[in-house]
This record gives sequence, C-alpha cells and structure tokens, in this order.
Amino acid sequence: MSASGEINDPTLDPSLQSWVESANEVGGNFPIQNLPWGVFITSDGEDRIGVAIGDMILDVKQAIDTLALQGLPPETACSLCAPTLNAFMGQGPRSWRAARRSISSLLARGADPHPQLLIPQSSVSMRMPAQIGDYTDFYASRHHASNVGRMFRPDADPLLPNYLNLPVGYHGRASSVVVSGTPIRRPMGQLKPDDGPSQHGPCRLLDYEMEMGVFIGQGSPMGHPIAIQEADNHLFGIVILNDWSARDVQKWEYQPLGPFNAKNFGTSISPWIVTMEALSPFRRSGPERLPDDPPLLDYLVPTKDDVLDVTVDVYIVSEQMRSQQMAPHRVSRGNLSDLTWTFSQMLAHHSSTGCPMQPGDLMGSGTISGTEKESRGCLLEMTWRGQEPVELPDGTQRKFLQDGDEVIMSAFCESEGAVRIGLGDCSAVIQPAL
Ligand code: MN
Repeated sequence: MSASGEINDPTLDPSLQSWVESANEVGGNFPIQNLPWGVFITSDGEDRIGVAIGDMILDVKQAIDTLALQGLPPETACSLCAPTLNAFMGQGPRSWRAARRSISSLLARGADPHPQLLIPQSSVSMRMPAQIGDYTDFYASRHHASNVGRMFRPDADPLLPNYLNLPVGYHGRASSVVVSGTPIRRPMGQLKPDDGPSQHGPCRLLDYEMEMGVFIGQGSPMGHPIAIQEADNHLFGIVILNDWSARDVQKWEYQPLGPFNAKNFGTSISPWIVTMEALSPFRRSGPERLPDDPPLLDYLVPTKDDVLDVTVDVYIVSEQMRSQQMAPHRVSRGNLSDLTWTFSQMLAHHSSTGCPMQPGDLMGSGTISGTEKESRGCLLEMTWRGQEPVELPDGTQRKFLQDGDEVIMSAFCESEGAVRIGLGDCSAVIQPAL
C-alpha cells in the first residue's frame, strides 16, 4: 500500500487520540486508529453492530438514531442498523471509508463526548459478526505443509507438486463457525488404529490450528473472476481463526478428497473484524519466493504490498491451571507474514473459475507456521505427532488437547511510526464427547 495513502488517511494519524480515555492507553488493542466492527447483544437481547474503542463498544445504531453520527450515505446508515454486518460489507470500500471517517471524527478527542453511546465490553456478549454463507480454508504456510507432509508421507517430497503453483484449499462448513467463547465439544469420529480395524468413538488426537480469517466484503457475480489487483476492494477485514482439527479422524478420512469430518465440528473466530484500512500501516511486500520456486502465473502475481504483518500467540489453560488461577501458558508465536500465499492471491485463485463470492463469506489462511519450532501453529507440529509433548505449568504434559483445556489465541500489529493495534482474543474450552 502506498505510503501516501496512509498520510492522506486522517483516521490513521498516529497522534490521534480519543475522548474515550481507555483507548489512549499504550499497548491496548483498540485505539482510535483501529475501530474494528463486531455485533454485540444489547441488554434487551437485540443483536447490534458496534465498534470497539478502548475497553468500550460504540453502539452504532444508537449513534445514528440520536444523530451523533452524521455524514453517512443513507444506504450506509441503514446497513449499520442491521443485526449483522453483511449488508454493510457488501457496499464496498467507499461506504467502509465513509463510516470509518465519521466514526473516527465522532470518537476523536476534541469532539463532543457522547458517553451515553458506549457500553463496557465486559458487560455484553458478542455474536457472530456476519452470517457466513460459505467458508473456505486454505493451506498457505509452506512450513506447515512441509512439516505435515514429512509426518504423513515420510518417503515422499513433503510438498505436493502443485503446492507452490496455487493456493491449496478446501470448502469448509460455514454452519460450524462460531464466535469466541462458544465451547467446542470433542467430536466422535471414525478412527483406524494402526494395529486394528476401524472403530467409531471420541477423537483422541484433538488439535487447534492457529490461523487468520478474512471476510469478503463486496461480492462478485457468478462467472466474473476477481482479478488480483481488484482483490483489495473485496476484502473487508480479518479475524483470528482457530480451525479445530481431529487428527485421528483426519488421518483415516483425508484421502482421496481432503478434510471432511475432521474439520466440521467447530471453527472459532474472534468477534472483532479489523478492517483493511486499519491494517494498511502493517502491509509488506512479498510473499517471499525461493530461488527454486516455480514462477507465478500472471493471475497470481501480487500488484500491491499484500502481506500483512500480524503476530499471533497461542496459549493453553488446563482445567487445573484455571482452578489454581494460573496465567495462560504461551505455546507458540507466529506471524501471518510467514505465509506463502496472501489473501489477495487466495481470492484471485478461488474466484478465477467464476465462483461467486458473497458478502460475509470467510476464507481461512491455513495454519500459520514459521521456520522455528516456537512458531509452529498446531500441536501436531509442535509436539511432532506427540513425540515431544508440551509441558504445562501445572506439571502435566500435552501431546494433544484434553477435555477442559482452553485454547486462547491473541493477535496484534506493530510497526514503526504506527500505533499498535490488536485483534483481541479467540478462545474456547473443550467439552467432553457426548
Ligand atoms: Mn486449517
């Protein structure tokens, strides 16, 4: 993204502060430069669009109804009074920028304070930010794909022949995507022990996958591919995504058509969508191609700095740690910029056939792993299939997840000359199988 774009965007001015004092605390997730979108439940039980600011939520409908929030195109104001973000997402970058600027002006220090429009984040529950029509999960980290390939096909090249030519993905199950905080039940599945016949029972090798997800904003009609230089206009913003995975189910079922029941019992996302505008100070060139990599076909050649520099941490809290009030234990730290494919490349490839995209569709990045052990984004890789267990501070070990374990993912962006922004948390507790 051009540096001039950042300078011209007053909502990204690092000196900007808010009359919401908690937004000005250094190191917080939601300064006024962030302004992520979500849906919260009001005290009357209504689903309502909000914007996170410091430790509060701006009630957007209330701000529009009371005329505190002005200057929005009428269709934008209307879409922001809906119970999901889909209609707003579908309006495209002009509406997104107009809303961002108006909300930034409303919340900026120097504007009339409107504390009656704020609700403490701690006092409400969050909903899914959008109704997801379709969910696709990619496999964009060559380090993850290489590690998994080495484990499952030790005698072959760890990367399959197509891996560096196209972003590999599978069509997931939108109905099983849930917002952070929703418990995840250990799935039942068909398993095949190495030394016996197949059986049906609770998953024994339950894993997380640390990913980021991107929401599609403006859609595209069937038969109309989205060119890579247009991808930006169709990407609304990102969330943290945990693609819960049943490794034993996966191992038995994945050939020949890829993941199925191993992935359809739950995928968690963080509730706040951080927009592409807020991410523009954290864009980098890339992704890196190595000397032996095949040349990219034209439709996949990046036309902008599409790599996002987002750090993601994974923590585990066991039931025992929770009862003893022990701090969450950090298992890994990765970065979205380690991926071999960007969201723009994923969207260009996904839609290249003419596959239609809808506002609110979700694309997962695939497990984010880097070159170092501490940056491996799932337990399968971190413990090398259980051979090197993770030690927890309660004295127990984990090869895979146990009932009662909570997995927490958190993410942030830092860059010189920009105010740090965070994505918040994506967490869930594992419940026993039924
Ligand atoms: Mn995945």
